[in-house]
Order: sequence, then structure tokens, then C-alpha cells
Amino acid sequence: MDYSALASLLFPNVSETPDTLEARYPVRSLPQGAVVTRMAPSPTGFVHLGNLVQGLVAERMAHQSGGVLFLRVEDTDAKREVPGAVEVLIDSLRHYGICFDEGATVDGDFGSYGPYRQRQRAALYHVYAKKLVLQGEAYPCFCTEADLTAMREQQEREKRNYGYYGEFALWRDRPLEDIKAAIDAGTPWVLRFRSSGSQENKFTYMDLVKGALTITENDMDQVLLKSDGIPTYHFAHAVDDHLMRTTHVVRGDEWLPSLPFHLQLFRALGFAIPKYVHIGPLMKMDGVSKRKLSKRKDPELALTFYKAAGFPVSAVYEYVMTLLNSNYEDWRRANPAAPASSFPFSCKKLNPAGALFDYAKLCDVSKNVIAQMQAADVYAQALAYAREFDPDFAAALERDAAFATAVLAIGRGGKKPRKDLATWKDVRPYMGFFYDEFFVNEGFPAAFEPTLIRAALAAFLESFDFADDAATWFDKVKHVTEKIGFAADMKAYKADPAAFPGSVADVSGFLRIAVTGKSNSPDLYTVMQLLGYDKTAARIRAAMEAL
Ligand code: GLU
Repeated sequence: MDYSALASLLFPNVSETPDTLEARYPVRSLPQGAVVTRMAPSPTGFVHLGNLVQGLVAERMAHQSGGVLFLRVEDTDAKREVPGAVEVLIDSLRHYGICFDEGATVDGDFGSYGPYRQRQRAALYHVYAKKLVLQGEAYPCFCTEADLTAMREQQEREKRNYGYYGEFALWRDRPLEDIKAAIDAGTPWVLRFRSSGSQENKFTYMDLVKGALTITENDMDQVLLKSDGIPTYHFAHAVDDHLMRTTHVVRGDEWLPSLPFHLQLFRALGFAIPKYVHIGPLMKMDGVSKRKLSKRKDPELALTFYKAAGFPVSAVYEYVMTLLNSNYEDWRRANPAAPASSFPFSCKKLNPAGALFDYAKLCDVSKNVIAQMQAADVYAQALAYAREFDPDFAAALERDAAFATAVLAIGRGGKKPRKDLATWKDVRPYMGFFYDEFFVNEGFPAAFEPTLIRAALAAFLESFDFADDAATWFDKVKHVTEKIGFAADMKAYKADPAAFPGSVADVSGFLRIAVTGKSNSPDLYTVMQLLGYDKTAARIRAAMEAL
């Protein structure tokens, strides 16, 4: 076969050579060990937690090593493309602090290794397609859908492996005249790789997450260019990641089955093989068994879920870090105030089988994150959330920012900060009682006689002096406790609970319910101080009347 004639026939307009492209996209001059990696999403519009996980791994690997993170848009499948999807993805990731150094941006492409959108790179792919044809490692295939279906049926009947290989590779060794005739007749063609691999041959490959993998050679003559001249993922991956000088390919492990073909392609093209970081899927427990998070069944897979649920960005980030590196939590305990970016991230610590997502754990992490924040930050973020999802509450928060911030400061700081809030949604049930429009008395415990409760409230009101400090205030609560015959000394009460109708804890509970409406609230003395004398007294009186 005259490969040169074939190459000119197939690619009459390709004038550039791989050498000119190599020169146009030179090896990046970066310090030793710098990781160049990318995210290469297909713009389908759905941004999920897996994107964030992958983005974070790539971002950490690049930026921690002084390397480069870029965004490439894999838009070769025009049918699946959703308008605006790239913008949504860029925005969602930026929201989580994942910023790209180069690549596709909302305002166009930025960087010297572009274009970064595959449909704009057709000419580049053709240069390398022509190279493979010249080497005798690629050829056109004119099979119709019907030919391929017939082939599949035959393979099924004969219980053979499916695919285009060996004797089934109908156009693999056709003479140039046949090819010429087909082209002259205007028959559509795809470009296929001529595989020299064999299913008999196995070799070992080291994946940075999966470890040593035993790989069976690819023997299929897979498609490189589709009939419209647009590459398949496989071919684009090889050409793009080579020309963009990617050192590490961070991607989902659904691509593992294609790895043998990718390695083969890189070799045929004369490209250095990048390192691969194949990330396992996100799993969750379903009863006693694990399964992959699913778009259909699990709303928590969508990244939009976390914003609507009111999780702070930093909490989701923190949680994903705990999912990715099992030593992150220990590090966090030792470095409570350090920025997450100072954690020494390692892709080798990723769980090869995929991380186990646990909603309860996310809530715990989030409680810790919010507990560490300054009250002003909590106020600002809770307000931003309420503005979008709970305008009535936002209006209350905005009425007096200093007041709301003071409320949110209760129990903050110190060694054991309060951990009431897992999400911004929790802020309203937590502090809504400070605002009359959200105050609801949930009722007193049925175990106590209303007359007793009323007596306790009345006695407290009588002695209530707004100028009292916390210690004096509590002495008075104890005094009220004794007055109604309850135990003021918790030790004595615990030693013999049957000897008393109740304790100072119960009396505090009555006051708490009267003032906050709930049996659980931040420090009651501080609550009363913030509410003010009039409101506190009015609520106690109203509770007495309602009893
Ligand atoms: N477009 C591919 C995907 O979204 C990219 C895989 C890769 O990163 O190479 O799965």
C-alpha cells in the first residue's frame, strides 16, 4: 500500500506537520515536578459532586506542585451539548474555589495551548490522523450501519467477541483502488486505528490511584475520526493532552477499559505517556450494600443541591477533602485554623474503589466548620442564603444587623463552641424566636402541673432585674427553684430524684420555653439580655396566661 498516496487522498488539505505543531506548543517550562492537568468536561449541563471531586483532585495536584490547571471543553458530541453548560460548570467550580489558570473561560479562551474547545481543533487532529495514515497505522473504513449490524449478528451467532478486529476488520487491508472508488462515489468514511495488539498479550501499568494494573492489549481497530472529521474522545484525548502538555490525566475510572487503547495510541503517535489518575465513583450505602450515587435516585449528587440545602461552600470543600484523603481529618484537628490549601494532598491516598458519601458525616463536618466561623461571617452567609431561599427571614435579619450578629455570637469562640448549625437553613429554627413574627411557644412539658410552672414563672418575674450579672441571675433562678420546692442543688437531686418534684434544670426549662418557645436554646441569660427586659417579661407573662 502506498501510504503517502492514501494520506494525500484522505487529507488533501492538511499541509502542517506534527513538527510544526510540536514547535507551536512547546513543552512548558515549569519547575521539576510541576503537575499540568486539566478538567475536560462534556458540556451536558449537569454539574455533579463527581465534577467537584475530580476538579479538586486536579486543582490540588496542579497548584500544590506549582503547575497548571486548565479547562478544556470536550464538545465533540454536538447532540449532547446544552447551551450555557460551560458557563454553569465554570461558575459552579469557581464557587468552590477551583479556578483555572488557562483554558476555556466565560469570556473566551485564554492561554497559549488553545484552542481549548475541541470543535475548534479539527485541523490539529487531522495533522496527526494523517501522520498515522502515513505510518500505516490508520485507514479509512466505509462500513455502513447495516454492515456493522450484520457483523455484530454474526459475532453473536458464533459467540465471538464483538467489535471491529481481525477478520471482521473489513476495510483493514483493502487496496487503494477500492478506497479511491469509495471516496469518488462520495461514500462516508471513518478513520480507524490499525491495531497490532493481541488479546493474548498482557502487561502491567501503574495508575496513581489504582496501583499496578494488569492490562490486556487492545486488538480492536477503533474509530479515530468520525465521518464528519471530528475525533472520538480517544483520539482527541491523545492529541489534546499531548499538545497541551498535560503531565497527569485526572479522570473518572469509567475510562479504565479504554486505557489499553489510549496507551497504544500515545505510542503510535510518538507521544510521551502521561500519568493517569483514575478516580473511583462516589458510592453510598443503600441498606447494607454500597452502590454508586445515581443521578436519578440521589438528589445529593447534583452540586446545586448543596447550595439550596444551605451548606457553606467551605463545609462542602472540607467534606470532600475528608472523602479524598483519609488523613485529612487528623490534620484538621491538629490545624483547626489553617487554610485547607495548606494540607499536603496526595492522590495516592484516594480510595481506589471510590469514596463513600455519607450525608450525616457532611452535616457533622459542616457543624464544625460553621462553629469555627466569626459571627459576622455567619451573619453574612446566613443572610445571603435567606435572601435567596427565605425572604421573610432575610427581612428580619436585615432589620438590625448588629443585633442578629450578637445573637449569632452566643457560644462562639473558646474551646467548645456551640455546634447548632449544619446549614444556613438551620439558622431560622435556631434563632427565629428572637423575632416576634417567628416566635412560637412549643408548649411546656406535660409532666409538670401548670400551676407549678406558673408559680415558677411568677416568682422569677418578681425577682427579675435586668441589671443582674449572669451569676446573680442564676442565683435568682435557684431561689425560685427552692421557692416552689424543687431541688436547687443538682448533686442532691441526682442522688435522690424521687425526693423532689423537679430540679433547677426543670425550672430553667420553664423559663427557656416561656422566653424562646423551645426546650433547646443558646445560653438563656444572654438570650434575655439580647431580647431586652420588656420583651422577656412580656413573653413570660404571655406564657403564664396561656397555661
Ligand atoms: N469528556 C470526558 C468526560 O467528561 C473527559 C474525560 C477526561 O478527563 O479525559 O468524562
